[in-house]
Amino acid sequence: MDEKYNALKIESKWQRFWQETGLNKTVSKSSKPKFYCLEMFPYPSGKIHMGHIRNYVIGDVITRYKRMRGYNVLHPMGWDAFGLPAENAAINSGTHPSKWTFENIEYMKAQINKIGCSYDWDREVTTCSPEYYKWNQWFFIQMLKRGLAYKKNSFVNWCSHCATVLANEQVIDTRCWRCDTVVEQKELEQWFFKITAYAEELLAACDTLNGWPQHVVAMQRNWIGKSRGVEMDFPIDGSDLKIKIFTTRPDTLFGATFVCVAPIHPIADIIMDDKNALNDVKSFYGNEEEKRGVFTGKYAINPINNEKIPIYAANFVLMDYGTGAIMSVPAHDQRDYDFAKKYGLPVREVIVREKNAAPSTELTEAYEDEGYLINSGQFSGLHNKTAIEQIGQHIESTSMGRVVTNYKLRDWGISRQRYWGTPIPVVYCKNCGVVPVKDEDLPVILPDNVTLKGMGGSPLSGVSGFINATCPTCGSAARRETDTMDTFVDSSWYFVRYCSEKDAAPLDKNNIDLFMPVDQYIGGVEHAVLHLLYSRFFSRVLRDIGIVSFDEPFKNLLTQGMVCKETLKCNEHGWLFPDETQNGNCIHCKNAVIRGRTEKMSKSKKNLVTPDEITGRYGADTARVFSLFAAPPEKDIEWSAQGVEGAYRFLNRLWNLLYSYADKIKTININPEKLSGKLVRKTHQTIKKVTGSIERDYHFNTAIASLMELLNEISAFKPADMADYASLKFAFKSLTLLLSPFAPHLCEELWALIGDGRSIFLAQWPAYDEIAAKEEEIELVVQINGKVRAKMMIPADSDDNAVKEAALSHEKIQDSVTGKKIKQLHVIRGRLVNIVLENV
Ligand SMILES: [Zn+2]
Ligand SMILES: [Zn+2]
Ligand SMILES: [Zn+2]
Repeated sequence: MDEKYNALKIESKWQRFWQETGLNKTVSKSSKPKFYCLEMFPYPSGKIHMGHIRNYVIGDVITRYKRMRGYNVLHPMGWDAFGLPAENAAINSGTHPSKWTFENIEYMKAQINKIGCSYDWDREVTTCSPEYYKWNQWFFIQMLKRGLAYKKNSFVNWCSHCATVLANEQVIDTRCWRCDTVVEQKELEQWFFKITAYAEELLAACDTLNGWPQHVVAMQRNWIGKSRGVEMDFPIDGSDLKIKIFTTRPDTLFGATFVCVAPIHPIADIIMDDKNALNDVKSFYGNEEEKRGVFTGKYAINPINNEKIPIYAANFVLMDYGTGAIMSVPAHDQRDYDFAKKYGLPVREVIVREKNAAPSTELTEAYEDEGYLINSGQFSGLHNKTAIEQIGQHIESTSMGRVVTNYKLRDWGISRQRYWGTPIPVVYCKNCGVVPVKDEDLPVILPDNVTLKGMGGSPLSGVSGFINATCPTCGSAARRETDTMDTFVDSSWYFVRYCSEKDAAPLDKNNIDLFMPVDQYIGGVEHAVLHLLYSRFFSRVLRDIGIVSFDEPFKNLLTQGMVCKETLKCNEHGWLFPDETQNGNCIHCKNAVIRGRTEKMSKSKKNLVTPDEITGRYGADTARVFSLFAAPPEKDIEWSAQGVEGAYRFLNRLWNLLYSYADKIKTININPEKLSGKLVRKTHQTIKKVTGSIERDYHFNTAIASLMELLNEISAFKPADMADYASLKFAFKSLTLLLSPFAPHLCEELWALIGDGRSIFLAQWPAYDEIAAKEEEIELVVQINGKVRAKMMIPADSDDNAVKEAALSHEKIQDSVTGKKIKQLHVIRGRLVNIVLENV
């Protein structure tokens, strides 16, 4: 052990040691219980940022802790390696996406290793490698055989910037999840996965996700969006045609003043003569920012009251929700209300707040609350909740329609008109139609020689060697599918792949059963309805194919908070880096700098700190301790230079203190059971607290705070004899073990001096003794004006202030002193407290 703490020197040494001695490896055959700890794998975009670091360090602490508690922990890492950024980088710089991706992986892997994360790299997964995506293709074919993959022509979300289709889950508030462009609707033929076949099961199983943050579960429930309603046929006046509508509000049936159909509804084309007007509405289909509609020229008959109401084609009615047609009740639905006002359609109230109240003279907005029915024939006077049931029954019994269940969840569109993804393994044959590639011919390899222009259209369609194929069924010439799969397919099952070693069969059921489900999954909340929903769906499909035997892939989920930092701005020069400011002024123009909000670190806001800056200067252990100490894992942390310094000082203090006692304690043998005294008690208390903080929702920040307290206690301790040195060694050993998941390199180095000669990560997590942890207590007498009024137990080492406080808050004493003035408060240590009250 050197005199001074040199983080960089010891960190690279121990990182090599852990790799070379195989300490991070998971064994497939073990008598230990398993624990699967997984962090969401990164996209290899080029560099690791502090958000990644936080994510991985949380997982690493859990992994190291569980290993010391006797678990066989699987802790793998890999790369979500297909995707658009590689393709765009290729277009911009002329590098092949593959080269760009693998170079980034190499760089990022080195960065990850620098923070000392204990990954089993022998199980590394890279989704753009043929041995991985082969299985995407195999799953696709399995799903095709089961009717869970199908192709249809439909309006789909289109991002013009990314020049590709997006799944519904990838449209966030009408914008592209990746680039924020407003999404358009485009008619395209594409492949879908039938996630809706599992809608009910995915919803019902939300109740079993007890180890997930409940707001994430709520987001999944809302996304699946189950609703009960009625389906009814509205005859078209003067024709034999009918329009089937769906509504969740049959209680408002008497308030329908028009009918709206989706502009792409087949009936719109049939009944409407003015195709130009219809096409105009079509071009705004699904655009939620502007409501557009057109009168079709026809009327529908509301079967409940035989009223004739106009039929509109409206852009906000979606073909794949419900029946693609709705009855519009502007008085009780804000969207319908806005539409009615725009097109001058009547508004009729059928629900009022108070029973038998008169309708408002003029509604200024839709009344969407509960209430009582009016203007509703035999149902007037009913509460609307009751009316929903009774009108539903009435509709069924009179054969006007039926009660049905609907979901908001729609099938997952997986075709992408881009290059850097998994080829969809089907060919088109003029004799046989769509034919899947045979299993033995998988993988369909993504060709290298492709021209990427980013102008839209699938790049693979320009590769003749790729598109020309032979039909597996009849042997005639066939054309290969040129779209690739959504990269979210890749990440929907990667956690299963990790269960088998690299060279083993990727879907070995024994290996999968050994480790799945994931015991602790850690990642960002932005995946709440994307990756997390798709993975739950995929797991069920794999279960039904017979590959896995679980329903839910992730037993516990932790969504870590963001890493934030203050922003700096100049009115003239925009966002500023800290070194673009001097004495509170912009160095370019000398204007005063505006200290902006603390926001998520980002390149564009110039508030980014790179992991290399921190690990290069202070070392990985400081970066780890800072990020864990700043807040509990689920909360945001604010980056602060002082915080980093504080973490660094703490590690230095520990180093220096242990160094100063090294010669004295190195060779002492200790028997913890024979030790006693204040420091020993504090040590047992610390073991208890740290273990409790980790076990209770991974509150690493309070665990580290307890370790800092113990270090203070050690620092104040003045050993006098051999027994004291033994106590000291016990305290140091315990502190080092407890700190090791957080600051593994430093602790491994200290352990080399005071440990058992093996790696600290082969040592057991320390146990505490409940009795030894208990504070010694003494009895104190409390007097008022010289008379004994109470007796109390307090910790033996309480100082005078603590004693005074305890005496004054004692129940009996409070009764006597309330409303009176205390003249004197006197403590005789270890014996009594005397309170002198002023005479009244
Ligand atoms: Zn986009
Ligand atoms: Zn054929
Ligand atoms: Zn400026």
